[in-house]
Amino acid sequence: MFRKVLIANRGEIALRVQRACKELGIATVAVHSTADTDAMHVRLADESVCIGPPAAAESYLNIPAIVAACEITGADAVHPGYGFLSENARFAEILEAHGIAFIGPTAEQIRTMGDKIEAKRTAAALGLPVVPGSAGEIRSEEELKRIAAEVGYPVLIKASAGGGGRGMTVAQGPDDVVQAAARARAEAKAAFGNDAVYLERYLATPRHIEIQVLGDGRGDAVALGERDCSLQRRHQKVWEEARSPALNESQRTEIYETVAKAMREMKYRGAGTIEFLYEDGEFFFIEMNTRLQVEHPVTEMITGLDLVHAQLRVASGGSLGVKQEDIHFNGHAIECRINAEHPRTFVPSPGVITHYHPPGGLGVRVDSAVYQGYRIPPYYDSLIGKLIVHGNNRVECLMRLRRALGEFVVDGVESTLPLFCDLIDHPDIANGAYDIHWLESYLAKGS
Ligand code: ADP
Repeated sequence: MFRKVLIANRGEIALRVQRACKELGIATVAVHSTADTDAMHVRLADESVCIGPPAAAESYLNIPAIVAACEITGADAVHPGYGFLSENARFAEILEAHGIAFIGPTAEQIRTMGDKIEAKRTAAALGLPVVPGSAGEIRSEEELKRIAAEVGYPVLIKASAGGGGRGMTVAQGPDDVVQAAARARAEAKAAFGNDAVYLERYLATPRHIEIQVLGDGRGDAVALGERDCSLQRRHQKVWEEARSPALNESQRTEIYETVAKAMREMKYRGAGTIEFLYEDGEFFFIEMNTRLQVEHPVTEMITGLDLVHAQLRVASGGSLGVKQEDIHFNGHAIECRINAEHPRTFVPSPGVITHYHPPGGLGVRVDSAVYQGYRIPPYYDSLIGKLIVHGNNRVECLMRLRRALGEFVVDGVESTLPLFCDLIDHPDIANGAYDIHWLESYLAKGS
């Protein structure tokens, strides 16, 4: 096992990783920007190193500064958390060249899955069901029109380098497909410096269902159940639950087996997530995330596994520590992302948290790095914390979530807490009857 792990991240995820390291007796190094000198992840780490000014490009994305921090402190591994450098293949390679372990997949695996066209091709070759569409990059207008007609309108033009929902454009028919592709290309070029686009069928009312996987890098892999992340705003997840209210046991067993087999075949290393859209009983692969995800706690709550312990074990050359047949799903878990944003307009609301009281009690977990008197800096994401609630079944989970939301106090900044208090009383939420468009239309209607 590692002796000292440097955590190249901030906020709740830095604290989450730190907790796992402490439990395993591993020393921790925090890195931080000058805006985060008073942050909880810095205060609680064994050592800390300031790596630059507030702008992420000069601190949390500053590879030379992070490598130097590893060398100064003698860290033998780096956990990248999510966001920032977590899916940067070059970072993984540079660490390796310095004899420092990257707690994640191989650089090659990150690179393959980071390019959406390549990821889709790989997924299809591994036997995963994919959204019908172009076999690869669209290179000409003629090809665009021909494939769109074959696939059937409406179609979605997507950027190969895409992320965060950028570079995605819907075309309704042959009249707007050329324009839509040009728009997607321009957006992709501006955001990612790469204008390669591909095309797929636009699914009308799918759910977003993703499977958590864990591989040892030597051909052993397990599927740790699914999460339903259909409640989204602008392609950003807001509420996640495990498992999905839309699937039955035989559908689950089948997709878990398909995914685990694919991961064994690619010798995937570490924790990862295979994202699917699910419509009319069918799964369609959209992408793979080669890192720990924000919503990983709902999986931990129903499996009893600590995913960060597992990441650390696998990255240091150990085994998965669990077999597929030993994985049992217990009850139901829901996560709400509490952001420092207006609950209806989602305008960010940085500032000082004047009063903070997180909920507690049986089945309630709050993953957060804020405290009373903490000033939320304007430079990073607006996550205040994640409220994760577990119940013996979905009904009990919802009851407990309503109770926990009622206890949660965050004063001084706007937060999305009131949105969740409204959502929990909606019959569609109680029934689990929602798709990826539900939240946007609920917000547009105002009720
Ligand atoms: P990104 O990496 O930019 O987030 P994804 O491929 O993960 O892009 O897609 C993000 C979201 O966009 C999905 O969760 C879904 O809501 C929507 N989406 C993606 N592909 C399709 C599709 N073929 N049809 C309908 N909606 C889609």
